[in-house]
Parts: sequence; structure tokens; C-alpha cells
Amino acid sequence: MKSVLIVMDGLGDRPIDEFKGKTPLEAAKTPNLDKLSASGVNGIMDTIAPGVTPGSDTSHLSLFGLDPEEHYHGRGPLEVLGVGVGLKHGDICLRANVGTVEPDMTIKDRRAGRIDSTAEHCKALDGLKIDGVEIILKPSAWYRAALVLRGKGLSPNVGKNDPKEVGVKVMEVKPLDNSTAAKKTAAVLNKLTKLAYEKFKDLPINKKRTATGKLPGNMLLFRGAGKYVPAPTLEERFGIKAACVAGGGLYKGVARYVGMEVIDVPGATGRYDSDYDAMVKAVKAALDDHDLVFLHFKATDSAGEDGNPQLKKEMIEKMDKAIGGLLSLKDCIIVATADHTTPCSLKHHSYEPVPVVMAAPGVRTDDVIAFGERSCAKGGLHRMRGLDLIHVILAHMGVLKLYGA
Ligand code: ZN
Repeated sequence: MKSVLIVMDGLGDRPIDEFKGKTPLEAAKTPNLDKLSASGVNGIMDTIAPGVTPGSDTSHLSLFGLDPEEHYHGRGPLEVLGVGVGLKHGDICLRANVGTVEPDMTIKDRRAGRIDSTAEHCKALDGLKIDGVEIILKPSAWYRAALVLRGKGLSPNVGKNDPKEVGVKVMEVKPLDNSTAAKKTAAVLNKLTKLAYEKFKDLPINKKRTATGKLPGNMLLFRGAGKYVPAPTLEERFGIKAACVAGGGLYKGVARYVGMEVIDVPGATGRYDSDYDAMVKAVKAALDDHDLVFLHFKATDSAGEDGNPQLKKEMIEKMDKAIGGLLSLKDCIIVATADHTTPCSLKHHSYEPVPVVMAAPGVRTDDVIAFGERSCAKGGLHRMRGLDLIHVILAHMGVLKLYGA
């Protein structure tokens, strides 16, 4: 038996007045998700633990069976893996933006007018050495880039140069402890800040941008330092081959971290316009040579963070329609769930558990006939932890061995 794990990011919500007290998921027309609920076993899930508000990074680690208490080393390494940069144990990884600063280092725009490529910027710094430390800088989508420091005696325990607001100066990177490694890493990053301005200001792309009235990309802003420490892969732990279909970089990064093959799908943007039908088609194709395929939809979380329940409902309906293409798969477990709750009323993540359904031949069905936060709470999976989900899936696939004799 094979399996598809569908994660609708930030799907969970709270009652909404304009939906007469229903959540966006409860208010949405979801015939396909409801079919899964009616033919499957349902429950609610705390992806980390009751009362803990999960990040998307920690919750996905948990969904893939890695305890974030042990395996989470900051957002940086996961974002960098998402860009496809090959990492070595001990690399210090950061998320980076190309932004615009005044000559006195006051930030004018953190995204350089949403500059559409950082390729020239990355080329100007990639491969250089500062104090014996190799700088690796690779372009990501739009104004984003992935920054890696590779060398001896480095520490992830350093601050950032990105204040995350405009009208203030680029920050000096501070060591966050008294170690020689943290001091050295902060010093390298401060030299990199200066070097970035020198190398970026005269790049051809900036001359062109300035000539057409656009903001130049003349500064590298970075944050979220983390150390890359490899984790055991799904293949090493369970002997299964897994693949990922996602638009957003972070999700590709977590997938690579657990050894999944990331399948790039044209049109999978991770934004509202993402081509879900193309993603579902890619999932079906990936099932030919993988045991488990992870499918990630982002727009539910984005609509929650935008505080737009109507849009969240529409996005859920769009996802439901696309998922219909998976319902005819034979001998396949379909699991649909979320990584956390993102209430439109809060515009950020919250602690409430998320609904989960597992539909497959032979599952012990329950009385739930609709996929929703409250309906799934009455199902046979009851209230479970995210860390256990992969074990439940693999057990039903027949992959896990007898415990004892
Ligand atoms: Zn999320």
C-alpha cells in the first residue's frame, strides 16, 4: 500500500460571525474531503502538544516523525535546504533578502522594490572567504537568497543585521553568548554586511534599475541563523522512499531534511495562484516510484494571516476540488490534515488542534461524515500528537515491524 499525506497549511480556525459561527472549513463546500471523512477514520491532532502554538517548521518536523525538541536547529537550515543548497554538518545557515539602503545604512526598502532576481548579487559574493570562512550565497525566489557560512569554529548563536523595519539602520550582528565561535561568526557577518554594500552598489542590475526609477538592491539583509545538523531520513528509519510536492521553500526544505525527493512542479508557487491540479498530477506520477508522497498547500495559512475568512473558504474549496483527483487511487492511504491553526481573527498561528482524516482500505471507520474541526473531534483517532501520525500511516501501510513477539 502507498500513501499520500496532504497538509493544508494553517487550515484550522475559530468560529466566524459572517459564517454564522462556523469555521471557514466548516462553511466551505468540500465534497471530496467529506468523502474521505465518511470512508475513513477521523480525529483532531496537536501537531506538537496541547497548548503549544506550532511554527510551520517545527510542526512539519513533527508530522514527519522527528521530535523538534531534538531535531529543530532554527529556520535557517530548512530555508536553505528549500533553495536546494547542499549542506555540510556544522554549516551556519541564514535567510537573506536583498534590500535597499541609503548611504548611511538606513533601510529604505527591505525587498528592494520586490526586485525579481538576486542572481547578480549572489554571484558577487558567492565563494568569497572572510577570515577563512567560505561565504555561500544562492538566489531564491524574487528578492530572497540563501546564505551559508562554512568553516571551522562557527556558532549559530548570533543575531541578525535585518531589523525587519524601514527607516532604521542596518543592525550590527551581535554574538548571543560569550564563546569565541559566536564572536567570530558575528565578526564575519558584520564584514559581510560591509562587503555586500561595496559589491552591490555598482552592479549592472542596479544601474539599470536606478536609470528606470526603480530602487537598487544594494544591501544583503539576513536573519534566522541556525546550524545544519543532519537528521535520519525516512528511508533510514523506516525503509520507505518519499517525495514532496510543494510550492513554498520551507516545506521543500523540511522535506529534503527528512530525505524526501522534492519534485519541482511548474505553477506550484505557494501563493494564491498556485496550480493545484498540476500539483495533484505530480503526486500521482510520484506514487509510481515512491511509497509516500507529501502534498503541501499553503494558501489556507496565507488567507488566515491576511485575516480573510472568505478567501480562506475559497482556497479550501479550491484544494478540495484538486484533491478529488486522488480519490480514485487504488491501494492508497489518503491522509488530509494541517500543520497548525491560523485563525482569521488573530492573523497568526494559534494553539488549537487541527482536524485529521485517514482514508484507506481496511481502516476502522467511524461516524464522522464531514471534514471539519468539530466533526473530526468525534472520530476514532480521537486526539493525537503530530509525532505519532507517521507511525499510524506506516503501520497501516504494513511497513512497521511487530513490537515484541
Ligand atoms: Zn504552517
